[in-house]
Amino acid sequence: MARQLIACEAKCRSCRETFSHPGIIDSSYGELVLSSPDGKAYVLASAFGTFPERVRKALSTTEPGRLWKVLAALADPDPSGPYTTTMHCPRCQGVDLEYWNGREAGIALVPEATYSEYEALDDGELGRQIALRA
Ligand SMILES: [Zn+2]
Repeated sequence: MARQLIACEAKCRSCRETFSHPGIIDSSYGELVLSSPDGKAYVLASAFGTFPERVRKALSTTEPGRLWKVLAALADPDPSGPYTTTMHCPRCQGVDLEYWNGREAGIALVPEATYSEYEALDDGELGRQIALRA
């Protein structure tokens, strides 16, 4: 499934590239856009649903930022590598942005994150995998 989000403009401080990205939903609403390391792909992670709830229970801390980092690490990776909670410039892959969530630039269709490698694990093994990353 894909979700329709507002695309916003961002500018890279390193290479001066201007690019559009799906507007980051405030994570307090329970959703966060994850970026591929090459800055060319995005997926939408939700804090709700069967798998994220299992991850939440397995986490030893309730710090919200931790949940997003773990979900990013467990999501089915992009060909360029695991998803991250940080936005990357699609030209130089840098993370030092001059601004983001800027001018609206149309619509971005963002697929929802999937966790096919990890959702089949039982709670014990999932907990061990999370402990390696949390
Ligand atoms: Zn750049």
